[in-house]
Amino acid sequence: MPSTGVDVVPSSVGFIGLGVMGKPMVVNLAAKLPPGSLIHVHDIVAAVVDELVASFPGIVVRCASAADVTSKSDVIFTMLPEGAHVKSVYLDPHTGILSALSGPSSHSAGKLVIDSSTIDTATSLIVKEQLAISSPTTSFYDAPVSGGVLGAVNGTIAFFLGCSPDDANIPRLTYFLGMMGGKVIPCGGPSLGLAAKLSNNYLSGIITIACSEAMDMGMRAGIDANVLASVFAAGTAQNAICDVFNPVPGVCPKAPSSNGYQGGFRVQLMRKDIGLALDMARRLGTRNALGTSGLGVYAAASEAADCKDLDSRVVFRYLGGIENWKEPMS
Ligand code: NAD
Repeated sequence: MPSTGVDVVPSSVGFIGLGVMGKPMVVNLAAKLPPGSLIHVHDIVAAVVDELVASFPGIVVRCASAADVTSKSDVIFTMLPEGAHVKSVYLDPHTGILSALSGPSSHSAGKLVIDSSTIDTATSLIVKEQLAISSPTTSFYDAPVSGGVLGAVNGTIAFFLGCSPDDANIPRLTYFLGMMGGKVIPCGGPSLGLAAKLSNNYLSGIITIACSEAMDMGMRAGIDANVLASVFAAGTAQNAICDVFNPVPGVCPKAPSSNGYQGGFRVQLMRKDIGLALDMARRLGTRNALGTSGLGVYAAASEAADCKDLDSRVVFRYLGGIENWKEPMS
């Protein structure tokens, strides 16, 4: 790991939300934190806590609540499904993070609290404001991620950080986030990590639909799918979805589409993110010509029995694309 200018001493880290992303992030922390460090964890699902505690005895420690994690940790991460979960984990008056930071016996000085959930910017700003009121010495950051479950397992996810590049906590943030991911990009200020993440996924989701339609059109005209993908790669349509995550099975052998659309980024998560992006666009008054139809495609694919729970590039299937194009025509 590159030097960050932070003294390498044992740390007390907290982690709340141990789902498909959070659990491998904790595994990476457990492997990379200096000896003697502790990771205090909490999730409403006991089985995942049991598994991590058993895998890392003496390092990963079970906690009864988010407040319990907070009181025992100097740096606290949250990785939760949606804004409602984030509100509850932070603001619950009895079990929430804030309750542990604002009590008379709290030791909150200099704590970092980092939310990596993909949620709406308004909720993130409310949480930040409440923390600032109750515990002015605690610093809260939005730091959503990109790179999916594979990136979380491999420690290569990118963090989009809601602060300026010269924020005083950048060295500490980079130190801890660097154990779980690759790039850490400061996006300018509070909630802008989320604004960046939602803009990115809006673009990625819309490109996927356009790529699926263009592939289907060209293939039905008689062009081989690989030839078509190489045309797009050489021309002005070049993009990462076509080159690396091509929605047509068999074009990119390592892409989820070539593995029955297993793995990757679930179509329901893309529906959620495009919905959040459109809410943001509405609030900001931007004109999004493609957003509403894009959201409709992902909403319908999320409900379709042959697409639900699969990688979002399954929209090629939803739109009726030819998946078995390598088989000889009868
Ligand atoms: P997940 O549903 O697998 O995990 C969420 C975890 O939070 C679960 O273990 C759940 O039990 C726990 N949880 C919920 N409420 C809780 C509470 N009140 N207290 C403690 N724990 C609670 O979700 P995930 O796929 O890990 O995603 C987490 C976030 O990361 C989401 O916002 C998602 O949009 C985002 N994200 C996911 C991916 C992906 O590929 N899965 C990629 C990038 C970003």
